[in-house]
Amino acid sequence: AKGQGRNTWQWYAGGADEAVSERVRLRRDIQEAIERDQFELHYQPIVEAASGRLRSVEALVRWRHPERGMISPGVFIPLAEQTGQIIALGRWVLRRACRDMAALNAERASALPVAVNISPLQFRRQGFLVEVEQALADSGLPAAQLELEVTEGVLMSGAESAIALLSELRARGIRMAIDDFGTGFSSLSYLRDLPITKVKLDRAFIQDITTKSDNAAIVQGVITMAHHLGLSIVAEGVETPAQRRDLMRRGCDLLQGFLFARPMPLAELRALPACLPVA
Ligand code: C2E
Ligand code: CA
Ligand code: CA
Ligand code: CA
Repeated sequence: AKGQGRNTWQWYAGGADEAVSERVRLRRDIQEAIERDQFELHYQPIVEAASGRLRSVEALVRWRHPERGMISPGVFIPLAEQTGQIIALGRWVLRRACRDMAALNAERASALPVAVNISPLQFRRQGFLVEVEQALADSGLPAAQLELEVTEGVLMSGAESAIALLSELRARGIRMAIDDFGTGFSSLSYLRDLPITKVKLDRAFIQDITTKSDNAAIVQGVITMAHHLGLSIVAEGVETPAQRRDLMRRGCDLLQGFLFARPMPLAELRALPACLPVA
């Protein structure tokens, strides 16, 4: 939801009627894109704050549209959620990420876990657990090398069945992360009751961490609490050396952001050194 305003496709600009027909067109295009294999997965490194050492990657979907070029997921994911197409797209993403990483890890001395974003609709759907098991079995990726990222909202609505599913996934060795932490209405203390392994601090808090003391205080609170509960914590959207230093000082051990690397195709990921430069 956040950031969509800026991302809105320019061809929505014509007015309400045109916006509606564009949505119809976009919906049809998503269907075709799934059938014609126009989606791609890019991977963004997550590194150790102090050393820049590569620790895991996040899979991020891209749409290479034949006429419109690369389209951001900020545009088509929300629509695919509304139309239900996220089910088919999400399944494709999960299977591709597992397959890519099984291939990549076969070449590496130490395996890199991959994080996959799971939309609320996908997570709540009957049969999701089986879908995950199948993606692992078909790709040969060990469960411990898969991490699923869900947002707070998923856990708030229908909390009991969501927590039961989290436990099932954890019991299979799959890691679970709370994405965009801090943007919902959850309290820090609810983390204690969830079977999760990681918290991802939303970029909104990182952006002005060096200038806004209230954001810095929230960040410090989340880091301290996460460590206390034995969870790892990733700061998203780290763009400057000052942000990196600040987060390190506060004890945040894992960082993700353009300072280190942008999301990249698998071939580029394959060629990365073990440690990324920490400016
Ligand atoms: P997200 O899960 O919070 O992913 C992080 C987003 O922040 C990515 O945007 C990434 O490119 C961007 N980012 C990373 N580092 C920086 C930085 O230093 N500065 C800035 N300004 N941005 C940074 P992206 O790839 O455009 O994805 C946007 C959102 O679309 C994702 O946010 C996620 O919610 C959704 N999304 C992407 N791929 C998938 C997917 O396969 N399935 C689902 N359900 N959602 C996806
Ligand atoms: Ca994510
Ligand atoms: Ca996020
Ligand atoms: Ca986000």
